[in-house]
Amino acid sequence: KLYNEVQDLKGNIRVYCRIRPFLPGQSRKQTTIEYIGENGELVVTNPIKQGKDGHRLFKFNKVFSPAATQEEVFIDTQPLIRSVLDGYNVCIFAYGQTGSGKTYTMSGPDVSLKEDWGVNYRALNDLFHLSQSRKNSIIYEVGVQMVEIYNEQVRDLLSSDGPQKRLGIWNSAQPNGLAVPDASMHPVKSTTDVLELMNIGLMNRAVGATALNERSSRSHSVLTVHVRGTDLETDAALRGSLHLVDLAGSERVDRSEATGERLREAQHINKSLSALGDVIFALAQKSPHVPYRNSKLTQVLQSSLGGQAKTLMFVQLNPDVDSYSETISTLKFAERVS
Ligand code: ADP
Ligand code: MG
Repeated sequence: KLYNEVQDLKGNIRVYCRIRPFLPGQSRKQTTIEYIGENGELVVTNPIKQGKDGHRLFKFNKVFSPAATQEEVFIDTQPLIRSVLDGYNVCIFAYGQTGSGKTYTMSGPDVSLKEDWGVNYRALNDLFHLSQSRKNSIIYEVGVQMVEIYNEQVRDLLSSDGPQKRLGIWNSAQPNGLAVPDASMHPVKSTTDVLELMNIGLMNRAVGATALNERSSRSHSVLTVHVRGTDLETDAALRGSLHLVDLAGSERVDRSEATGERLREAQHINKSLSALGDVIFALAQKSPHVPYRNSKLTQVLQSSLGGQAKTLMFVQLNPDVDSYSETISTLKFAERVS
């Protein structure tokens, strides 16, 4: 089959694909990315198969080439972020194998450089600016929580006592409900406040990790932005929320090699990523039953998946020919949920 439709999205689900560049110092290898179209087309080549069967076409709402800047990526994300101030719940997440650029897209490589800022910082920056511009009619309050989901346990990354305590999840479908009410909530007024908090979050993520990189690729981190607006004239209140999710690496772990803790982690990751896929699949199919309860991840994100909520998935790809089979498995995930 030459043509795989990943577009034509039903409901409020959008899918963007982003391909990371080859890294400096990495000897330039063969790429599996054969073609990137203007309208979201992507052709991937199988390095082993020649001829017609060796190519597959996928289609997204948008494909960002390796040359796309953080700013270009954000411009297409901005309208979604802005709807949070109008009372929508929005979920943005990055999916892909370890090393495919999930953290780069969501947070950026180095937050001390503004051009490098990922979606997280730009989103909050934008929310602050926009809420300022409306201050004569609506007063907004913004609060953030940040949790990590590791081995199906939820921990507060912004707690002053460190991330030790395991937190329970509530049904966030309740009006005004918080999914993780016991995670500390931090009022923020500026991007500087946010940068400081995120640093604490990163430090806490390192606690209890044997190797920082390893742990962060095997847990999901969820930054939740809660917005409450009060209309100065009518006193009516509105609430919106934004979930910004850096998912655990989607790579398959070889069962014959992984044992003990590593295998357990891999099983938890598999379970939660497939639960996320099942939820989005059910929403895209407009199925009456949406299986939110199958993982902690989908429970935490419930209020921003489905209903009036808007969802954006970044499908992250490593262009390297060695990543071909992971690339195809990532693209298949995307194809199923859209
Ligand atoms: P992941 O979070 O999926 O494991 P990272 O975001 O850590 O992957 O990216 C892996 C490496 O590639 C990092 O060194 C990162 O800075 C780099 N990288 C990822 N995406 C880009 C990009 N679009 N442009 C430049 N470098 C990138
Ligand atoms: Mg990462």
